[in-house]
Amino acid sequence: MPELPEVETVMRGLAPVMTGVRITAVRQNRADLRFPLPAMMPERLTGRRIECLGRRAKYILIHLDGGETLIVHLGMTGRFTIASPSGTSRIAAEASSREASGDGRHDHVVLTLANGARVTFNDARRFGYMDLIPRADLDRHKLFRDLGPEPMSDALTADHLAMAGKNRRTDLKAFLMDQRTVAGLGNIYVCEALYRARLKPTRSAESLVGKVGRRRADALIAAIKSVLGDAIAAGGSSLRDYVQATGELGYFQKAHAVYDREDLPCLTPDCKGAIRRLMQGGRSTFFCARCQR
Ligand SMILES: [Zn+2]
Repeated sequence: MPELPEVETVMRGLAPVMTGVRITAVRQNRADLRFPLPAMMPERLTGRRIECLGRRAKYILIHLDGGETLIVHLGMTGRFTIASPSGTSRIAAEASSREASGDGRHDHVVLTLANGARVTFNDARRFGYMDLIPRADLDRHKLFRDLGPEPMSDALTADHLAMAGKNRRTDLKAFLMDQRTVAGLGNIYVCEALYRARLKPTRSAESLVGKVGRRRADALIAAIKSVLGDAIAAGGSSLRDYVQATGELGYFQKAHAVYDREDLPCLTPDCKGAIRRLMQGGRSTFFCARCQR
């Protein structure tokens, strides 16, 4: 499943092709993905100029003139392909090892742009979804109204974590996976951030409260930002075949420090520990019991 850095990478790949460009035609090949597609979507998109692209949590936001915003969630296997007159580049985000279907069977929505580019949304498993709503209503939309601050923004502060953690008996892993605490973090980057902050995933969320708690919260916030920043810089860690517009290949899989490294040696210098795995909330947590306290 694409996590925040992958979604950010896909958005950044789309932006140069789509920003400021008018949509001249829309082909919609089915009525639904995970949920029904927006009513009259082709009619509402055709003729609109794309003002800019953005991201909130794991949603790509395509802001249109006329005041509406197209919201896209990639689900498990959602991907965008850009076919431009100068050649084809592919921007993909997928978690599974399945090969990309090249036959177009899973091309569900195709946007033709005034600059000659064709942007295709392909989703083999159809866990992705789209919505089209007034931009002014974004913060009130059911997908967004309960979301915590963006992890890369200044809104994520030690005060916010202390307030959210107060009287919470939950552990740090579940606390960070909760989208109301911070938006867009998933299993991989929560494990990596806790490792980088040297905090044990089983520690209570309440231990971010108070004077000592504040130091932990500051360390955690710095770790979250650096882990996500590194992954975004590397192009998103589960992008398998991200081809930049120049045609040059991105990278395949960024190495994680703890995630999926059970029994392997901890990478912290001078730590002789091994990475351990435990189940929390039905998901695997990876951590080093020696350097995470
Ligand atoms: Zn260690």
